[in-house]
Amino acid sequence: MTGPAHRAEIVVDLAAVRHNVRLLKDLVSADGPVRLMAVVKADGYGHGMVEVADASREAGADWLGVATIDEALALRAAGDRGPLLCWLSAPGEDFAAAVAAGVEVTAYTVEELDEIAAVGGAHVQLKVDTGLSRGGAPRRDWAALFEAAAAHEAAGRVRVTGLWSHFAASDEPAHPANDAQEAAFREALAMAEAAGLDPEVTHLANSAAALLRPSSHFDLVRCGIATYGLDPAPGTSPRLGLRPAMTVRARLVMSKPIAAGEGVSYGHTWHAAEDTTVGVVPVGYAEGVPRAAGNAASVWVGDDRRPIRGRVCMDQVVVDLHGELPPPGTEVVLFGPGDRGEPTAQDWADAVGTISYEIVTRVGGRLVRRHVDSEADGTTDPGGTTR
Ligand SMILES: *Cc1c(COP(=O)(O)O)cnc(C)c1O
Repeated sequence: MTGPAHRAEIVVDLAAVRHNVRLLKDLVSADGPVRLMAVVKADGYGHGMVEVADASREAGADWLGVATIDEALALRAAGDRGPLLCWLSAPGEDFAAAVAAGVEVTAYTVEELDEIAAVGGAHVQLKVDTGLSRGGAPRRDWAALFEAAAAHEAAGRVRVTGLWSHFAASDEPAHPANDAQEAAFREALAMAEAAGLDPEVTHLANSAAALLRPSSHFDLVRCGIATYGLDPAPGTSPRLGLRPAMTVRARLVMSKPIAAGEGVSYGHTWHAAEDTTVGVVPVGYAEGVPRAAGNAASVWVGDDRRPIRGRVCMDQVVVDLHGELPPPGTEVVLFGPGDRGEPTAQDWADAVGTISYEIVTRVGGRLVRRHVDSEADGTTDPGGTTR
């Protein structure tokens, strides 16, 4: 097995991304064509926005989705030319740059729509709030937003290409908000049509709804977390065979014996109950390892899970090696796809009381990120070829 190429690194398998995109597209298109948007905001949920975008397009993603105009422009600067939507802007942002780059923008309010229309030639999508109470036009403003959009369109100032909304609880399929939001979305579609709008795409579903709620697929689904191979609704999703794309690993710095009764790491929040050995792993909360993982999460060393002992420090963590003394440089996997028995991002999320989204998106700091392609080099070992 190849050791880590760097002291500590994030290895992203782009073959896993392609596999997931193909799987998702097949799943949602089973009963007729539904387009797939790969959501690559927040640096591709920590996986590398540009690389994931390329891999997703290659595997058949019809659209890419990002939050901000800056992210969309970065994709264009990297050479992406396909359908691309962004949806989060504060007043005064550079809609002209987005429009010039062929990026579709989203309007929540009439004011925002007017700002976008003033640029001229924008492809704009309208976002309605159907119950998340986050972005999007509240129901009482739908009619005004649709009317303004139709007027701008009739005057040739914009093309209204989409109408969309976002679920609050699609990871809980039995949550009553799901039915209510889907019904509200259908009302919005009818109102938009009555106002004279004819958007090319209407969309509501994120990953969880793509997997769990076919009635919400409409023309397109926006898949983020599932693109990266993580389960949007742990314990509920069908077993699709998604493959986690990210592995975080490091080289062991040292291992040494400690005696029964000795305290470990800051504050001595853990004491050895018996003589044991511990290892030093060169990643800490500066790398996005949650401090809450102290005395809670495990890593993989050798062929076993090794619990983190004591507090997570800024630059390092200490793990229990249960009497073994692996040499410095030994591979330590914090999390990965789970094939070898190593913890997954979901295991880390469970250990610290969060969701896998946060685990993969927050890792970074001094970790070196590299992309591999397990299909190209015929191995799923994260030590494969650097792209
Ligand atoms: C982030 C995001 C998504 C993707 O959600 P997942 O649960 O990761 O699939 C979809 N739509 C919007 C509006 C988002 O902000």
